Amino acid sequence: MRNTLTFLILCFLISCVAKQQSPIDSITPQSIHAEVEWLASDNMKGRYYRSKEGRLAAKYIAHKWISAGLSPLPNKTSMYLPTDDMRDSPNVAGMLQGTGDEYVLITAHYDHLAPKRNGKDTIYNGADDNASGTAALIEIAKVLGNQQQRYRASIVLVAFTGEEAGLVGSEHFVKSAPIPIHKIKALINLDMISRGDPNTIFLEGAPDAPRIALALSNANKQIGLNIIRDKHPDWLYRSDQLPFLEQEVPAVFLSVEDHEDYHRVTDHTDKIIPELAAKTTKLTLLAALELAHPVP
Ligand SMILES: [Zn+2]
Repeated sequence: MRNTLTFLILCFLISCVAKQQSPIDSITPQSIHAEVEWLASDNMKGRYYRSKEGRLAAKYIAHKWISAGLSPLPNKTSMYLPTDDMRDSPNVAGMLQGTGDEYVLITAHYDHLAPKRNGKDTIYNGADDNASGTAALIEIAKVLGNQQQRYRASIVLVAFTGEEAGLVGSEHFVKSAPIPIHKIKALINLDMISRGDPNTIFLEGAPDAPRIALALSNANKQIGLNIIRDKHPDWLYRSDQLPFLEQEVPAVFLSVEDHEDYHRVTDHTDKIIPELAAKTTKLTLLAALELAHPVP
């Protein structure tokens, strides 16, 4: 009896230690679902980039990142990076400072489409597109904020505005260069990560970014996703990685295939697969940590 008890206590202690050692455990389907539900609620009206709800989404993201312990970019006092047009909601950027002068970026757009004028359902909730990627950034921030380990590269999260209006936020980021663009050693962009097959994600851009592809494949040993590579190279032209690729920043894109609710008012939270989004979030974070290079 005493032996059994000792054994059980030991098992419990081992499981506690094992839990503490994994930095990604706080990212769960439930935590992702909760963020998507808030961002894609009817109250948020699609987070359109020139709406007060778009600005509210930016404020929400910045608040989450500050609470997590991230900092603004170097020489900035705020996480808001306004575009040139005051009507636009801002880009939001938060950072875990590294010891060196390079950057690893994880990005996702938070805006979706403006409401329709008529119809029964007028709101483009954009749960998959791209509350899912935005939720990933919020969950990643929580893990980054708890890191005891130091990294050589700074890890920067950017939530872009105005992607749906023509890459407004990402183009402004590259043009205004709040950090030196040539110091970005890797960028992983997430846009739609929660639909389709529950264990499949598509990766574009790997051939020109072999180090990122390797980091993702190393990370996937822990995650076990079915990663389909290079099936849709044209996707590189349709989301926020494009302005960075044009400046020869190594960048990849993770996404699911188009589905029946893509750019429809029916892109609702109850249709997302939070397990897929959580796995893709963990995959992205683990790869980014490897790319940022832990300091011994
Ligand atoms: Zn999108």
